[in-house]
Amino acid sequence: MTITLDFVAQKADSSTRRGLSDLSLSVAKCKKIVVVTGAGISCSSGIPDFRSSDGLYALVKEKYPDVVLKGRDLFDASLFRDPTSTAVFHTFIAQLKQSIDAAAPGPTHHFLQLLDSKNKLLRSYTQNIDGLEARAGLLGSASDEAKEKSKIRTKEVRNVQLHGDIHRVRCRSCSAEYPCTPEHISQFIEGLAPDCPECLERAEARIARSARTIKVGSLRPAIVLYDEPHPLGDDIGIIQSADLARKPDMLIIMGTSLKVHGFKKLVKEFAKTVHSVAPSSPSKAKNWSGKVVFVNRTPPAAEWAGIIDYHVVADTDTWVERVIEDWKKMRPSDWEVQQTLVVKDGDVSMNGNFKVVASTKNKTKGTKDTKKKPRKNEENVPPPPTDMVLSTPDVAPPKATFTSYPAAVSEQEASWKFPLYPGV
Ligand SMILES: [Zn+2]
Repeated sequence: MTITLDFVAQKADSSTRRGLSDLSLSVAKCKKIVVVTGAGISCSSGIPDFRSSDGLYALVKEKYPDVVLKGRDLFDASLFRDPTSTAVFHTFIAQLKQSIDAAAPGPTHHFLQLLDSKNKLLRSYTQNIDGLEARAGLLGSASDEAKEKSKIRTKEVRNVQLHGDIHRVRCRSCSAEYPCTPEHISQFIEGLAPDCPECLERAEARIARSARTIKVGSLRPAIVLYDEPHPLGDDIGIIQSADLARKPDMLIIMGTSLKVHGFKKLVKEFAKTVHSVAPSSPSKAKNWSGKVVFVNRTPPAAEWAGIIDYHVVADTDTWVERVIEDWKKMRPSDWEVQQTLVVKDGDVSMNGNFKVVASTKNKTKGTKDTKKKPRKNEENVPPPPTDMVLSTPDVAPPKATFTSYPAAVSEQEASWKFPLYPGV
């Protein structure tokens, strides 16, 4: 059975308040959270709901007054069968990309990045094509950096883009992919399609050696349409299998009405695995693990009873802000600033409450003989300074090497960047 937790009702209802606090504790304690998202998480960023956006369709209508197109037609793979609907599609996507370029990541995107920076995010999966997760700091599956010699870098990909990326273009003939440039946009907006550079190069090479010429493919926006296979489908399958094998301990579904078939299947598979790690009785230890949470204004369809444990009735931004607030109160140690101080010439100056967790390099035992002799090729390298690493407890060691933190950094600034939140 799905428990409904209505944000508006919590003021008058203590069990709702308790339920919401329990979910915050789950987020704070779980270590392998899978998050799946849809258009709802980008609403506050000003991304138009393009499948029903009057504004964008009005602009298309202006350019193509004689064309009658429904929203769904603009995102169906069959549109490429007709040159006019192809042109309309290009114009529409170019306009959509321009409005996305003017937007910024919102609280929910930053929340995903926060989970990742605290080593809690197993993976984010999104139906969105706006790429705002990447701008919040999560590497997307469609990006160039996600690949190494045509193989997906599973560990590095933090956000799986199930429906592609509007900031990329792909050749309709040879499938070569490129970042979408302003030059591409200026052609798309006129309903035109740029030639594929890779095809052009091959065609010219054939002409040079008097071979039979080949067709040069055109570039299209690299988003996935209805009834179209995902070009990275195999890679996504590999990533999902890896994540299922790691037994995620929480599933958060946000800002989606769960209507697309392939997406529903993915959510159900994750939910099953998450439930398999839930304790058999609520009084058992680790009762914060194994929950499936759905955060959306509208309730899930009947088929999700028994799959979704909690329906939080709220905007995703409202909920993530509540979670962060609770988390800070419940586990303040997660929010303490990581500090690395350098001790030089026996001088240590520090403020705050630290304990020494490691002392590295050049422990001064006195005599010359105990010092490491420089290797030949290191003769001109100055010896390293005497470093002492100090750390607050319960925090992962720093990834980068800082010589010092600026003294005036506040706790919030140092632990995660949050300057773009409206109203914070
Ligand atoms: Zn090509």
